[in-house]
Amino acid sequence: MRITSCGMTDVGLKRGHNEDNYLINEELNLFVVADGMGGHAGGEYASAIAVNTVEEIVTSMELHPEASDEHDPVELTRQKLVHAIRLAGRRIYEKAKEQPEYHGMGTTAVVLMLDQGNAFIAHVGDSRIYLVRDGRVEQVTEDHSLIAEKVRHGLLTPEEAKNHRMRNVITRSLGYQEDVEVDLQVRALRKGDQFLLCSDGLSGHLAADELQDHLQRYAPQEAARRLIGVACDRGGEDNITTVICRIEETP
Ligand code: CA
Repeated sequence: MRITSCGMTDVGLKRGHNEDNYLINEELNLFVVADGMGGHAGGEYASAIAVNTVEEIVTSMELHPEASDEHDPVELTRQKLVHAIRLAGRRIYEKAKEQPEYHGMGTTAVVLMLDQGNAFIAHVGDSRIYLVRDGRVEQVTEDHSLIAEKVRHGLLTPEEAKNHRMRNVITRSLGYQEDVEVDLQVRALRKGDQFLLCSDGLSGHLAADELQDHLQRYAPQEAARRLIGVACDRGGEDNITTVICRIEETP
């Protein structure tokens, strides 16, 4: 499999520091975006624990597959990701409990892993993964947010949700509880697929068709740079992070 990828993060125009973190590990074909929050220095610490833990656990499970009883390779990768993300949540929760300066910290996490011709997509919170395929864009993660849940239940229209004052309230995150439920889906990869992982500092400022337009028009590096530029032009209220991964050749 041949892929091109690029990650970029920017503090934006209104915040004093950047609480987002991301990871690109091309050996593992592992990509993560985490958007931290809470406490004085807690947000950036929580998102750093999330990306580091996911990388550490996936690496160690790759090196020691015998540690699991699971023989189905797809199931094994699913378990790997869910375990890594839940453990990240537990570590953040424990740090926050131990040290008062980290009290109340938490983070979102979106994780993409490419393995066995599949995309494994896992997430907690309202960071997102989009897939651009065959000239169409799809948001493949469902936000774990109060407003997104109201839209799913028909209590709000997507239009009403857009500028809702409670749109930043998330219903699931890593670190607020000891354990968390992780959403995970598996998609077969196709040549030409492009994945965009991002924090809400990007998706809050650009509609899906605008994201698609950038991904189709520019190489990943240039697309990432321009997307962050647009988010800043439109206010840059929040930290902005994007990871782009393009499937040039499938296995
Ligand atoms: Ca954010």
